[in-house]
This record gives sequence, structure tokens and C-alpha cells, in this order.
Amino acid sequence: MTSSTDRTAIVAALHDELASVLALMPDEQKQTVAGRDFWVGHLHGHEMVAVLSGIGKVAAATTATLLIERFGVQRIVFTGVAGGLGDGVRVGDVVVAEAFLQHDMDASPIFPRYEMPGYGRSRFDTNRALTEQLARAASTAIDGAEHFLDRETRAAFGLQVPRLHRGLIVSGDRFVSTASECAALQRELPDALAVEMEGAAFAQVCHDFGVPLAVVRTISDRADDAAHMDFPRFLREVANQYSGAILDRLFRAY
Ligand code: SAH
Repeated sequence: MTSSTDRTAIVAALHDELASVLALMPDEQKQTVAGRDFWVGHLHGHEMVAVLSGIGKVAAATTATLLIERFGVQRIVFTGVAGGLGDGVRVGDVVVAEAFLQHDMDASPIFPRYEMPGYGRSRFDTNRALTEQLARAASTAIDGAEHFLDRETRAAFGLQVPRLHRGLIVSGDRFVSTASECAALQRELPDALAVEMEGAAFAQVCHDFGVPLAVVRTISDRADDAAHMDFPRFLREVANQYSGAILDRLFRAY
């Protein structure tokens, strides 16, 4: 393990999202491990490692483990996009996770549906203090959203004034993009605010190692038949602007 006194990991799910993070780091150096590029440097004076998680739970769990065991990070902040499931969770809103569940975990009838075998539970909480700081940064960033989202971009995606939501996010190895699958998740997990593909893996690994985790997701779609909209353009023009603005505020205040 690389020894370090205080090092934070910033993890993004997709390439575009990482770009706005790297733009905030003046001195990053690349180290490649297990096919992943880890960018080690500073952000507002704090020692950082920035990396792509890879898509899906296995890639995410491997990345989380490497960050903790190889790079010795003391906390992990994850930024990405997700599909909105909860009532009133709209495209362009921001969700800060308080807990995660794997919606595709099902070892029934031996264990209750969603329960993680060996853990006696289905949900893993994020770290309360770090999540509070991230929520504050997200709230300030979206209050200033008019500074980084011009009128044309907002019109292109039908964005309204963004809102911040906090609560359960569910993860699974599927891009949820049909109205029927979305409705099934809403019915079975009525308190789920959003769905994505990595967060619950990070939450489980961070639980195992006792490493604080906080996660923010910008809503890119409603996980229904319209979820295939211009995803790359949304990432470029909306989501990575949010990531940059939120992390900038988080680490400036840190
Ligand atoms: N087409 C994309 C891949 C999308 S995978 C590409 O250019 O590579 C979807 C990513 O966004 C995952 O990281 C996942 O966490 C998140 N995500 C956004 N909307 C989602 C949805 N409706 N269902 C599942 N994951 C979603």
C-alpha cells in the first residue's frame, strides 16, 4: 500500500465525468493498475486520486478495493449520472445517496430478496458526515446552476430549476431503459430515488474496509423508454458541469 497521511479518492463512472475533475487538478500523474488509470495529484491543496470506476458492480468493486488497498485512500467521493425513479426526481436534478441496495441481488428462497448473503442486510449506508458535506456542496452548486447551464442547454433537455434529493439509490448490472422495468423497480422498492450501476458495489466494499463513502448522481434519464436520449451530449453539457461545480465546492470548503 502506498503510504499517505490523508488522501481522498474521486471516482467518476464515465469518461466525460472524469474530465471536469481532472481539469481541477493542476499536477496529476498517471499510474495504471489492472487496466485502470489512477490520476494522483491535488485538488484545492488536498491529496487526491481520481479514477474511472468502470461500469457495473464488478468493475466498481475492483476499483474501490484498489483505491483502498493500493492507494491508501481515507475516503471516497463518487460522482456520476443515474436514472430517476422517485416521484418528482427529474432529469437535471441531483441525488445524494444516504443508502444503497443491489436491486438485482436475489438469493431467495434461501435469503429474503435483496438481502446480501453473509451480511444479514440489504442496505449499506453512506458516511453521514461526508454525505452532509457533499449535500451542502451540491445544494450550493445547483443554486448557481444558471452560471454553468445556458438557456439553450436547459431548453434542449427540458431542464427545470434543479432540485436536490437525498435517500436510497439502487444499483444493478442493467441499464434500466424500459417503462415496464422502471415501473417494477418503483413498485418493489418504493423509496428508491434513482437507479445506476456502481454505487452499491462501492458501498459494500467501503463497508467492509470501514472507509467513508459519499455519492452524488445527476439524473440523466427517467429509466424508461426515453432513457436512450442524447446521453453523450447530456454528459458533456450537463452532468460533467455539475460534477465539476459540486466537487469544486466540496473540496474548497473541506
Ligand atoms: N452509453 C454509455 C453507457 C451507459 S451505462 C456510454 O457512453 O458508455 C450507464 C451509466 O450511467 C452507468 O455508469 C450507470 O451507473 C448510469 N446510469 C444512468 N442512467 C441509468 C439507468 N437508467 N439505468 C442504469 N444505469 C444508469
